[in-house]
Amino acid sequence: MGKIMRINLSELKVKVEDMPKEYRGLGGRGLSSQIVGKEVPPRADPLGPENKLIFSAGILAGTVVPNTGRLSVGAKSPLTNGIKEANTGGSAAQKIARLGFQAVVIEGCAKELTLLKIDKSGVTFVPASSLKGVGNYELIERIKKDHGNKISIISIGLGGEMKLKAASLVATTPDFHIRVAARGGLGAVMGSKNLKAVIIDDTGCNPIEAKDKAKFREAVAALSKAILADPLGPAMRNIGTPVLVMIINSVGCIPTKNYSLGQFEGAEKISGEYMVELMKKRPNALPSHHCMDGCIVSCSNVYTDEKGEVIVSGLEYETIGLMGSNCMIDDLDCIAQMNRVCNDVGVDTMDIGGAIAVAMEAGLLPWGDGKAALSLVREIGKATDRGIMIGNGCKFTGEKLGVKRIPHVKGQCLSAYDPRGLKGVGVTYATSPMGGDHTAGLVLPNPGDPSYNPGSPTGQTGPSQFMQTFMAAADSLGLCMMAGMPLLSPVPQSTLISCVSAMTGESLNENYLVNLGTSVLKVERKFNNAAGFTAKDDRLPGFFREEKLPPSGNVFDVPEKEIDSVNKF
Ligand code: SF4
Repeated sequence: MGKIMRINLSELKVKVEDMPKEYRGLGGRGLSSQIVGKEVPPRADPLGPENKLIFSAGILAGTVVPNTGRLSVGAKSPLTNGIKEANTGGSAAQKIARLGFQAVVIEGCAKELTLLKIDKSGVTFVPASSLKGVGNYELIERIKKDHGNKISIISIGLGGEMKLKAASLVATTPDFHIRVAARGGLGAVMGSKNLKAVIIDDTGCNPIEAKDKAKFREAVAALSKAILADPLGPAMRNIGTPVLVMIINSVGCIPTKNYSLGQFEGAEKISGEYMVELMKKRPNALPSHHCMDGCIVSCSNVYTDEKGEVIVSGLEYETIGLMGSNCMIDDLDCIAQMNRVCNDVGVDTMDIGGAIAVAMEAGLLPWGDGKAALSLVREIGKATDRGIMIGNGCKFTGEKLGVKRIPHVKGQCLSAYDPRGLKGVGVTYATSPMGGDHTAGLVLPNPGDPSYNPGSPTGQTGPSQFMQTFMAAADSLGLCMMAGMPLLSPVPQSTLISCVSAMTGESLNENYLVNLGTSVLKVERKFNNAAGFTAKDDRLPGFFREEKLPPSGNVFDVPEKEIDSVNKF
């Protein structure tokens, strides 16, 4: 179990402490949420000095267990005003773990824009006023030039510096592409602390050794086999998450025209299959790419233009759904360019996609006009009035423009699954302490369970609760969702538990994951209740209950009484 490093930016002081008793056994989301729950006043201003920003490595980070290097970023969210954890791939968490830390807690606020370097010898504070306003792509190149390529960088762009509600943080992959902790405006929390970037260098550190090496080797081999046995694995490897465009479109649940339709006539042109065909003709494009060392799924990609210049890595389903079909834009190059601008400025593509769609509904720009949408996204970095509005996300934009149909829960734009046809996802959107988000508990039809009906008003809360609990545990281990989905049944779960047990040397029973996930959700729920959330916040916007979704005619009709039973422990 790693230590906790506390960096106070007001005093420019660093304190290293052994893991306090109340945080023992935790990592990733479990640890970040526990720290926020214990140390941040629930009514604190998310952008004020009382909020803390936590970078937490998962329980299995830094080991050879596949796909367990995700970085959890936690704080009170300026977007939802509740507790938040957003996680991302990249190499930062593995390096934090190898340096001997489970979490780095950023406290206070620097007097001037600052850059931190954390390595084996400690922490260096570097004044960074000259980096003010520099976009993430240029920033990463400049830092790499000065500090070499053995590092990992976590940084913000202008979105974070401007404290926009949809501001993200980015983290670098081993080959210096950008991954994003996108949701909940945590980039604004980093900006409020005047922290431009954190450089992590684990040179001279060794991988983390398991306590029981023989058992660990065996468990890791069995876990790898279980992940690789996923029937969706080849599609994830060859096409990546954009394979979902045609799948979710075929079940009538791809968000289209600000969630007013469930199928998009231009779906094929933004599909994963079409993307792969485009990539075959383009130099340097990679339909399969891994965002962290030790990934055995490789669901990411490197999307280039016709000349072979990288536009973005990776272009993912959620971005295509929110910036593509939801805005009626059927041009992958345009969507990829919008994604790049969002990464550079440091804002969430999903909330920005949702914001553009409500702006289209308000008549600010025409439906399907990719050029106008790209130009609007560029305005965020120019800090125009319209850019600031869009950069504050979907709810802010909708309210500003007087739009009635705003697809958000607790202030956060929904993901790219219409909850009227995928009602288990709707329950997760409504009840997750994180606000509207698929990664908190994605409930999809499962060929292994033909009795599950995603369109039925009943039978949705159990699957949502199961997935929310599982994902809270997976996020605490640092396990990527793509590798977690094949591990939902009891046998692979017991293999995962064996990995943790062999690593930590602790004997863990079969309820370990459920207990871990439940304890995380409890802490998060308690924080949100104390921050002022009530059952009224666990609701989808009314139009999902009132408007029939073409072509199925579905409405979201899960009884409120059932919704109110979720996450009540
Ligand atoms: S499966 Fe995808 S998201 Fe997960 S670690 Fe690999 S590339 Fe990253």
